[in-house]
Amino acid sequence: MKEYSGYDTQINGRLEDELRRTKDANTLYVSHYYFALNDGQNLIFYYNPQHFWDKSPLEKVEDYVWENLKQECAVFKNFDPDEDTKGQFLEHKKPHPDFFPETPKISNHYSCLGSRIVSHHRHYYFLGNFGGCVKCKTKDLTDYDVVSLLQWAAMTKTPNYLKSIYDLKCFKKAMTSNSNTIIGAVVGDVIGSVFERNNIKTTNFDLFNSKCDYTDDTVLTIAVAECILNNKNFAKTIWEYGRNYRGRGYGGSFRNWLQQDNLKPYGSFGNGSAMRASAVGFAFDNIETVLDIAKQTAEVTHNHPEGIKGAQATATAIFLARKGKSKQEIKDYITSTFNYDLGFTLDEIRPTYKFDVTCQGSVPQAIVAFLESSDFEDAIRLAISIGGDSDTIACITGGIASAYYKQIPKEIIDFVVDKLPGEYIEIMNKFDEQYNRK
Ligand SMILES: [Mg+2]
Repeated sequence: MKEYSGYDTQINGRLEDELRRTKDANTLYVSHYYFALNDGQNLIFYYNPQHFWDKSPLEKVEDYVWENLKQECAVFKNFDPDEDTKGQFLEHKKPHPDFFPETPKISNHYSCLGSRIVSHHRHYYFLGNFGGCVKCKTKDLTDYDVVSLLQWAAMTKTPNYLKSIYDLKCFKKAMTSNSNTIIGAVVGDVIGSVFERNNIKTTNFDLFNSKCDYTDDTVLTIAVAECILNNKNFAKTIWEYGRNYRGRGYGGSFRNWLQQDNLKPYGSFGNGSAMRASAVGFAFDNIETVLDIAKQTAEVTHNHPEGIKGAQATATAIFLARKGKSKQEIKDYITSTFNYDLGFTLDEIRPTYKFDVTCQGSVPQAIVAFLESSDFEDAIRLAISIGGDSDTIACITGGIASAYYKQIPKEIIDFVVDKLPGEYIEIMNKFDEQYNRK
């Protein structure tokens, strides 16, 4: 790999404006915490999170982003990766510009905390303390794209560290209104998240607890939805999501699986297979396909018959609810097909039901919570009211309730969406666009 320095430096306007009119190939823009390189076809962004974080309290982050976009940037024209320009900056003895104190020297990196720009096989890479680069098409760049690109740059490869940037209002994507597919499962997970370790045995609780956050149930629900949308490999995608979104409450065996390179199933019958299966019930139009794809999503890890059954029962209940079947029909079908006993009430089990992460010990309970409910919110409250693995039970119930009632109160969606990474919202919107139908 070669390392290059910028050349032909000049101050040339605000970063925001420059990016919007970027047309010249081989032009590099450097502001206090962004690099953006136009290589003729792509804009490649590198974002410097440490600068951002050290200098700005989180509550001021949004102001800070816009302030920086309005600041002047340095423009390196004729930034040519195929010509070794290393050292030219020094040879030309150009003074470091006073009016731009932290940028723009690259090769000895005055700025950006040791980040380096390198070229390899005619590709550019921006390497930094927190690593990663983003390539973006420059063709037909719109104002909206500029903000989106910066958002992507900000999220590069450091999802946990940069979690807070997801909360920036200016970057937040809106959820499609009347969303009623996998968002139901995500709602159950987020609202149930604070009760998994602090079980309650009542439906009377505050839905909007400020400590609510998304957990593994959401991460892997989104992973499966993305597989279906983009025809991706289940094992690989689930593995990638698990590794990209760490620390979201995964079970021990799943965490071990995430450390492996040879993605072999481990015979689990945990409810992890059921919690991620909801997209299957929304996406396919006949029961045979639903059963087959649900099995595929489960068996990459949960290849025990009960693990597969949990995913299939969840997806099937969603499929039947979506198709307008009555609660009795859903109950009968699930009972006879999967041999689950649904002949109990929540009131009967509530006093003694305990934490149980098996499919057979939580999926029937989640289905009964749906069967007893009067609307979507009631379903979530009932699912949480029995205690146990609350986020997962509510996630399973929420998916079915969303398919059945087809309506989730807007304030619930707003509350939950506010907790999610922009990437998830985008996938949910696409999923809704494609599968929000009967
Ligand atoms: Mg969870």
